[in-house]
Amino acid sequence: MSLKGKIALLNTVLMSIVVIFLLFFMISISDSVIDTSSRNQLKYILEENAEEIEWDDGELELDDVDFYVNHVSTLIYSDDGFFLEGNIQNREFFDQFPLTNTYFTTVNLDGVEYLLYDLLVESRKHDNVYLRGIVSVTEMSETVSLLFHLTLVSLPFFILFAGFGSYLVTKRSMKPLEKIVETAQEISHGDDLSLRIELGKGKDEIHQLAETFDIMFSQLEQAFLTEKQFSSDVSHELRTPTAVILAECECNLSEKASPEEQREALEIIQKQAFKMQNLISALLNFVRLDNGVCKLEKEELDFCELISLVCEEQETLLSENQEIFVDIPSSVYYSMDYGLMIRVLSNLIVNGFQYGKEKSWVKVSLSETEENILVTVEDNGIGIAEEDFERIFHRFYQVDTARSSKNNMGLGLSMVAQIVKLHHGTISVSSELGVGSCFSLLFPKTLNKSEK
Ligand code: ADP
Repeated sequence: MSLKGKIALLNTVLMSIVVIFLLFFMISISDSVIDTSSRNQLKYILEENAEEIEWDDGELELDDVDFYVNHVSTLIYSDDGFFLEGNIQNREFFDQFPLTNTYFTTVNLDGVEYLLYDLLVESRKHDNVYLRGIVSVTEMSETVSLLFHLTLVSLPFFILFAGFGSYLVTKRSMKPLEKIVETAQEISHGDDLSLRIELGKGKDEIHQLAETFDIMFSQLEQAFLTEKQFSSDVSHELRTPTAVILAECECNLSEKASPEEQREALEIIQKQAFKMQNLISALLNFVRLDNGVCKLEKEELDFCELISLVCEEQETLLSENQEIFVDIPSSVYYSMDYGLMIRVLSNLIVNGFQYGKEKSWVKVSLSETEENILVTVEDNGIGIAEEDFERIFHRFYQVDTARSSKNNMGLGLSMVAQIVKLHHGTISVSSELGVGSCFSLLFPKTLNKSEK
């Protein structure tokens, strides 16, 4: 049975139990309710009728008296007990009971129970009269019991109606859930990760669930596309050196190549093999960082000391036309992975010079606020076009391949971004073509502290 069927059935059973329970409860208290309401009604009607009794020239005026109202019959007797007015079957039977004042009496005639109530109406000038109110308690009980039986007979129809209504309501509220299942099934069968549930606006749990699923699908799609792109980029990058190696081998194996030519071919093969080796080790680093195999070995270090160290090291590699500046405070401590942070800084500094002009400089600065530490690596190089700001952080993306050396594969900045992200930081770039670029790394202090 479907979930909506189950819920509808459960609702119906529950409702029916409640109705049946209510019905039996009402029947069990009906006797005392009938008794109390009969007494109240009897008393009320007699008091009303008592007020309508008048004397006109010594004559009793009964025109305004209601002799039968709401199942209550009223009889009128004289002060000494003679019947004067009123109409009820078997009246003589009721006449035999002595008249009282404001008392209830229960009598039984042929198995029918009656409630009697007498009221004395006093008059100063004329003779007093008695009013006797009579109501059949059995008649009232029968009315209630008839109602009860009618309800019992109509109960199956009520249950059917409730069940059907409950099914419709459940079906309607389950519709969004069906859409979630449908979309998930479509994605799993058709591999189309671009599908979304898109339930629209709503704050209930089902809408929240659909929204969470949609976010998850987007992330899955993004991860899937990145993986796809990565695999295609890797195979593309490996195809060229492999093709070169194979061509060189074929050439030198098939023809009688001179030793010089063979040596030349070997040199080309070695160059391509180095390129592949570089690519493989870079990829390995990525995978290790991605999978968490290469765990961050964080320690509280002086960021300024680390920057000085990297800059000094890079300075030894500079040519005459290249200069490096450092603008840092005396010490700023931060918890970081020493080896990885060195990789970040050296990559940015090397890029600054590699994509620099003839006379080039790179400036590394550090400043801090209460919340963050900001490291910037600025250069006066060729600059980067605005449309490439985001793309340069993608794997294998290179703006100007002519400038890249054999070791450049467009992986440096994506690795830098990955390491910064692992330190909960962010990286951004601002640049102007022909003027220079500035890479800014922002590291939050709070997350860093809470991790310790
Ligand atoms: P690679 O240097 O191996 O090509 P990167 O990921 O380090 O790869 O850089 C990606 C691209 O971004 C480079 O090809 C280059 O065109 C551009 N780039 C990086 N740094 C700079 C810079 N400081 N100035 C100008 N262009 C840069």
